[in-house]
Amino acid sequence: MVIYHLALSVFSVNDTGAQSMKEAVLHIKSEKRMHILRVQSSALMAIHSYMHKHGVVQSMPIILSPETDPLNHPHFDASVEYYGQRLHLTKSMILHKQLSLLNDGIDKIYFMSPNVRLEDGKLKETGRHLFEFSQVDIEFKDKTKKDFIRFTDGMIASIYKFVMRKCADDLKALDRTLKVPKLPLKVYESEDLRKELGEDFEKLVSHRAEDPFWIMNFRREFYDREDKERRGYYHNYDIFWPEGYGEALSGGEREWEHKEIVRKMAERKTNMKAFDTYLQVSSQGLIPRTVGGGLGIERMVRYLTGQKHIRDVTLFPRVPGERIIF
Ligand code: ASP
Ligand code: MG
Repeated sequence: MVIYHLALSVFSVNDTGAQSMKEAVLHIKSEKRMHILRVQSSALMAIHSYMHKHGVVQSMPIILSPETDPLNHPHFDASVEYYGQRLHLTKSMILHKQLSLLNDGIDKIYFMSPNVRLEDGKLKETGRHLFEFSQVDIEFKDKTKKDFIRFTDGMIASIYKFVMRKCADDLKALDRTLKVPKLPLKVYESEDLRKELGEDFEKLVSHRAEDPFWIMNFRREFYDREDKERRGYYHNYDIFWPEGYGEALSGGEREWEHKEIVRKMAERKTNMKAFDTYLQVSSQGLIPRTVGGGLGIERMVRYLTGQKHIRDVTLFPRVPGERIIF
């Protein structure tokens, strides 16, 4: 039983964002948050046990490093100077995931990693963006996208099953009904969807879908592998949640050849100085051949618990452009 010490009627908290200390306290104290966090705990437990069962080892995330994901979209820089070195807050663990697989004894790894992406305040309206969030970052050595899809399909189904079994009361309190998706999840090509539905295809398919689904081939960061015979075709993908909840995971097979990496960085006007050490590694032919992806934890919980805005799945919301209280 949750006791509200503050007068609830005075504030409207959930869908507007906290404006004051009192609203932020009410946000934390809300009974809804308790149900949501229980669902999150079970979903994470399902992921950990699925990883463990499949021999995927966990490593702890890093938060500051000289080189991090460049991200292929507009955002503000988040870095600090420390003993003469500029260190960036992690935007994703991509480069470190790849490097961790240099260890001959490790061929499957995952991190549960905080990411800081200081994106435009306009994104506050999407209901899907936090400028500080967490993802399950997974990477496999010497495997293909086909292997990754099969593995991840199983992981997604196991999340549904575990959450539905362990959190039936929480889901009921949240008025949320889930059904375990049919496997294999559907796989679409972005080119086909664009032809059929126009530029808004991600949103349209997510709205009409009942189960999560994959879309292949997006032009993104330098590290996602581009087909050499078919330039402009990328061996990467996203998973989307159904019912209009949108993007769940991004990933792909990776570039490992130095000259491809350099070519793609140049194409994206990447400041190569900012990736000096990574490029030294690739120039030695040391980047392992890998495939992987990052699954947004808060977005997953937003979908599982049926929340309109992602702020409602966090105790301490970090919504782009919004004032932070705690
Ligand atoms: N680049 C992805 C991200 O958005 C992760 C991945 O590709 O594995 O974090
Ligand atoms: Mg993405």
